[in-house]
Amino acid sequence: MMARKKKNKKSVHKKRPALRKKSKPLRKKPGHKKPAHKKPAHKKIVRKKSSPKKIRRGGAPQSVVLPVRQLSQPAKNISSYDVVLHNFDIAAAKLQLSEELKQLIKTPDRELRVELPIIMDDGKLNTFIGYRVQHNNARGPNKGGIRYHADVDLDEVRALASLMTWKTAIVDIPFGGAKGGITVDPKQLSLGELERLTRVFTQKIDCVIGPSEDIPAPDVNTNAQVMSWMMDQYSRRHGHTPAVVTGKPLELGGSAGREEATGRGVCIALREASKSFKLDLRKAAVAIQGFGNVGSHTARILEEEFGVKVVGVSDVKGGVYNPRGIRCKDAMEHVLETGSVVGLKGAAKITNAELLELKCDVLIPAAMGGQLHARNADRVKAKLIVEAANGPTTYEADEIFAAKKIPVIPDIYANAGGVTVSYFEWAQNLQQFRWDYQRVVAELEKIMTTSYAEVMKSTEKYNVSIRIGAFILAVDRVAKATKLRGI
Ligand code: NAD
Repeated sequence: MMARKKKNKKSVHKKRPALRKKSKPLRKKPGHKKPAHKKPAHKKIVRKKSSPKKIRRGGAPQSVVLPVRQLSQPAKNISSYDVVLHNFDIAAAKLQLSEELKQLIKTPDRELRVELPIIMDDGKLNTFIGYRVQHNNARGPNKGGIRYHADVDLDEVRALASLMTWKTAIVDIPFGGAKGGITVDPKQLSLGELERLTRVFTQKIDCVIGPSEDIPAPDVNTNAQVMSWMMDQYSRRHGHTPAVVTGKPLELGGSAGREEATGRGVCIALREASKSFKLDLRKAAVAIQGFGNVGSHTARILEEEFGVKVVGVSDVKGGVYNPRGIRCKDAMEHVLETGSVVGLKGAAKITNAELLELKCDVLIPAAMGGQLHARNADRVKAKLIVEAANGPTTYEADEIFAAKKIPVIPDIYANAGGVTVSYFEWAQNLQQFRWDYQRVVAELEKIMTTSYAEVMKSTEKYNVSIRIGAFILAVDRVAKATKLRGI
């Protein structure tokens, strides 16, 4: 591992001074405040040292209620990175990792911030900021999506990169974890501006990506077209290299089944969880927040293949509700025509807040992080939560759900179907060979069901919440790989 890191530093730092060394992390020091133009600074979390109090869920594995704060206290501003570190710390403590090893695998391996100047359609110069964070590559090349969103900042990208490390470890595919993003609202850009921005970003992160270094993929507001531009830009310098990104269109070496893969994985996760928690899916009502790639495919597959009634869906503009069930294909067509689920015929308009609090059996957050928090978790009525989005639940909300005996199937397992089929795509590209759709679905099914059993085994063994059980499984695998390679 040492030799690998040295090689990276040499080849990259010589040419790219913008790249930060691990010894000078960009992470905020205690007391650090974000610049005024950014979102409000996140308060530092004070964790009590007393041992966690356990409560028992009926028939289900025990969950842990962490004494982070009294639930009656006002909610803090908790960043997504705080949440990931919090869960990591609990898992590392359960595994009794040494302090040195814990520090090594807790924080990102490399963080790159890049300026992205582009000429806008009106001839003016505009400079955007982009990031690529590589969290850990002990188990294989870094892997993770690219997000285009106005709220993207280094803290969020770090959190998402870290989640990728644990996710790839849980489904046991040979990758580490990374994430990237650009602080931009892509809806304000023309197609040409979006392409120029993507190409400049690819050029600027070219020094740290590659089929055996780091393989980006789509995330919020990026898609197969963005991946095509990235693949093309990288290939101009390195020769035709489809394996540098996944989530490409089929015409450029994409995999059958990749677009729906995250949604299909969420459906498998829900099906497996429904067995553990004795929920009859054929009688269940499901609400889904977010109707983009993940949310819409989850809804469609649940309705068409699993016979599940989807009663509510939403997107950034609002939501719709029909207690008799929404026809997901109609909703998808409505989104194509109008850009939103709002206004769908035969369904009542609701807000996003109302969607999260709907009377339903299963809630699937499939939009942005931090949607379930101390201020709304108490009003959630679902009997089961399956996290399709990354980081939708703060640890304060986790405490509340544990107290209400609502099991949460965590993101690092539940939405791993996307990166799993990305792994299939990467493997197909390297072998210059194609799998058919049936094979992709069958292999995904195998990995998601095996991983569910392993997550639940870890949960039961350590007598913890499912999220912490999943973290323990993942941190243990990464720690073992790190030790075997040599620190
Ligand atoms: P997307 O851009 O295709 O869709 C995002 C959806 O969320 C849209 O419907 C959007 O309108 C909605 N949305 C955005 N902000 C919202 C808000 N504040 N309230 C309600 N709805 C809001 O993105 P996606 O690829 O579907 O990703 C959704 C989530 O799933 C993200 O958290 C992402 O990190 C996670 N995820 C995606 C993949 C993947 O393969 N695309 C894989 C794993 C996890």
